[in-house]
Amino acid sequence: MGLALLVVLVTFANTFYAGYLQQREMLIRNTLESNQAYATKAAGLTDGFLQQALSQLGYSAQLLGSGFDSPAVQSAETRRLLQQNQTYNSVVIVNAAGKVLNISPPMAEVVGQQIGSSGMLAALQARQPLVSEPFVAGTGRLVIFISHPVFAPGGEYLGFIGGSVYLHDQNALHAVLGQHHFLNGSYLFVVDRQGRLIFHRDQERVGENVMRNRVVQSVIQRNEAGSAESVNTRGESMLSGYAPVGLTGWGVVVQRPTELTLDVLPLQVQGMLWKVAPLLVATLLAIWALARWIAKPLHDLARIANRLDDADTAGNIAQVPSWYYEVIKLKQAILAGLSQVQRRITRLNTETVTDPLTGLLNRRGMMETLQAWEEAGRPFSVAVIDIDHFKSINDTYGHDAGDTVLRFLADHMRRAARAGDVLCRQGGDEFTLLLPATPAHEAVHACERLTHGMAFEHAYPGVTITLSIGVADFRREDIHVNGTLKAADVALYQAKRRGRNQLVEAERA
Ligand code: GH3
Ligand code: MG
Repeated sequence: MGLALLVVLVTFANTFYAGYLQQREMLIRNTLESNQAYATKAAGLTDGFLQQALSQLGYSAQLLGSGFDSPAVQSAETRRLLQQNQTYNSVVIVNAAGKVLNISPPMAEVVGQQIGSSGMLAALQARQPLVSEPFVAGTGRLVIFISHPVFAPGGEYLGFIGGSVYLHDQNALHAVLGQHHFLNGSYLFVVDRQGRLIFHRDQERVGENVMRNRVVQSVIQRNEAGSAESVNTRGESMLSGYAPVGLTGWGVVVQRPTELTLDVLPLQVQGMLWKVAPLLVATLLAIWALARWIAKPLHDLARIANRLDDADTAGNIAQVPSWYYEVIKLKQAILAGLSQVQRRITRLNTETVTDPLTGLLNRRGMMETLQAWEEAGRPFSVAVIDIDHFKSINDTYGHDAGDTVLRFLADHMRRAARAGDVLCRQGGDEFTLLLPATPAHEAVHACERLTHGMAFEHAYPGVTITLSIGVADFRREDIHVNGTLKAADVALYQAKRRGRNQLVEAERA
């Protein structure tokens, strides 16, 4: 049972652990995938926003191409661009010499001045649609500059029209990227090609260089979408998805702390446990029941085998249900062993109460029989028989002849006995006849049958014998069978004294 329990528990634990790992992996993979998907979408939106901004500027540039020197056209365009869709914080028109022609919102002190910011100088130099690298404007704020060149219908470069977007402020870029719901602790940020933060939920961090973040390196260097488990600049483990903005080479990163993602894991594991628990309990109960079922016959056999000397041991063993091979074999072995032992005990018992020479009961057997009768309260008579002058047979013909004579008498007794009579040889040449339910005078008749004609039969070639017999019956006053035996012995002694070859009945009061 222990082994089965161990195997089941280990299997369950293993399955459970595998399930846990699988669940964890799935959570991480799902989060990475959705973060990458969201980063790709945000990068696409940003790209679209910039493309749209450029095409708006392009449309204005086309208008300005034929009215570049008209302050009215300039003002109309800068105002329209500024107010139409809140894309820019300011819109400016600059001529080919780098002089500011018009600006919205209007700033009189700037008009007519030479441009100095790196974004605008880059636009002047590029002479093509451009989104500048972020730069620090004269106002001290981080800015990107989106511009489109203006060409005269003849193809002559006239200058450019462009708008600046203050990265710290709320603007259209925020409107696009801020749509991301910062659910479940996930957040989004955008970096430029140098790894500087352009957009971050924490406005304070805009402008900070986060190139040391491995994910930022990946998105900028490889310029393709992907995902990774990484550690952010603050040392927190993050699940990040990233995608590049095609037009500018910026990188959009969406990430979520690993710890928060795995927050639901204990709950899921608990759920799994509840689902597994009934089956586990059922399995354990089944093991318990099965183990009991297997062990029960063995247990029963062991219990019975402990008391082999009980009267009904063999019957009890046979009743133990044996439904599998080993128990059947064990049962057969115990039963076989038991019957062997019983046969041996029976033989030993017989040997201890039997006289080996004549096959009659010995003295011990005789006493057992008498005691049993006494306990049962059965009336009986005793005849004590002794061969006359047996010693001289031994002396004359030898010990073997003596033995033959003893066997001769035993056979005689057997022939003369009735069913139920018990024949014994007490020792030497002394025999006893126990006659159940027989009064003394009837016992005398039985003994006369025995001695009748004996004088004419050869007990051994050339040898006839005579017997002296003392008879007594069991009386209440004897208290014990020994009293009866004693009385018979006394009678026998008298028979010897009176000249042998005769029977004397005990004289009783
Ligand atoms: P009594 O008429 O007074 O009985 O004379 P007895 O010679 O029979 O005298 P006793 O009963 O004292 O003799 C018994 C003899 O039986 C003595 C012993 O040597 C002999 N004897 C005892 N056991 C055996 C035996 O197993 N075989 C043989 N052959 N002789 C035995
Ligand atoms: Mg004798």
